[in-house]
Amino acid sequence: MRLEERINTYGRYLRNKYGCRVFRVGITFRAACAHRLSSGGCIFCLPETFMVSSIVDDEDFINIGYRQLHELAPKVRNGVGEGDGLSLLAYFQDGLPNDTDVPELERMFIRTTDYPGVRGIIVSSRCDSIDEVFLSMLSKLPIDTYLELGLQSSHQSSLDLLNRHENINDIKSVLDLCSDYGIHVGVHLIIGIPNENESDILQTIDFVNSYPVIKEVKLHNLTVYKGTRLADYYSDKLDEIPDLDCYLHLLGRIIARLRKDIVVSRLFTSNVRGNNRAIKPFLGVKRNWLSRLSKHLEEQQIFQGINCPVR
Ligand code: SF4
Repeated sequence: MRLEERINTYGRYLRNKYGCRVFRVGITFRAACAHRLSSGGCIFCLPETFMVSSIVDDEDFINIGYRQLHELAPKVRNGVGEGDGLSLLAYFQDGLPNDTDVPELERMFIRTTDYPGVRGIIVSSRCDSIDEVFLSMLSKLPIDTYLELGLQSSHQSSLDLLNRHENINDIKSVLDLCSDYGIHVGVHLIIGIPNENESDILQTIDFVNSYPVIKEVKLHNLTVYKGTRLADYYSDKLDEIPDLDCYLHLLGRIIARLRKDIVVSRLFTSNVRGNNRAIKPFLGVKRNWLSRLSKHLEEQQIFQGINCPVR
């Protein structure tokens, strides 16, 4: 049985929604993370592993998305062997710029969607960068919009340990606000946060399940990058970094618990640029991890949502 018969995968979601293959093209604002500047940043974060490199200068803010698409989309289209017909989602993946001017952002998003083949935009952000004015603008854009929020865990102690500098009650308020504005929300979760056991992780899944506004999850296996404070944390206990077997077991439990309608848009931290900077990365390649996950789900007869208390 194929993985997408057991899991509500992102590929299946996009095919059903758009009737064709759709690819994300990563776009950067090239803005420094405000949380890093003010509070030292998250202990796991190594910006060079996820920031998009682009030759486009950022003086002309309104055109920042369009011009990066102009540079990157042909490479994506060639890479997947499809021509100009390939549909795209413009993925603003490294957080909103500091001191975001909402009307200017709106103009920039609309200009981005002038690029041929763009079907919508994805905006990734911390919850503390989101306010009502921004959500109101996002909800009125004449294109498909998706908002990705870094949740990581529903446990305050874990948010504190990771130095997220966010309060879970503020996160709940942002989710409620997103619900009021009918925003399509995806959340990032880190699986394997220090001191979290299986029951803690499943409580975070229950938290996600309890918010109908959450339509997607991105699951990240904890990745310990050299030079981060997380690497310092593990320096004398490397054997405690969760390995692939442990992660596959947890994934099985998570998938069984997760609401059936939630789209799983990532199953592994699969960052090619970052892999050689990680301590104890999973060996092998994503294709093999997926095939082991498939086998595990098959053996355990796991389907997404079979143990979900929310129907
Ligand atoms: S994970 Fe995001 S919020 Fe945290 S330091 Fe990195 S860029 Fe900033």
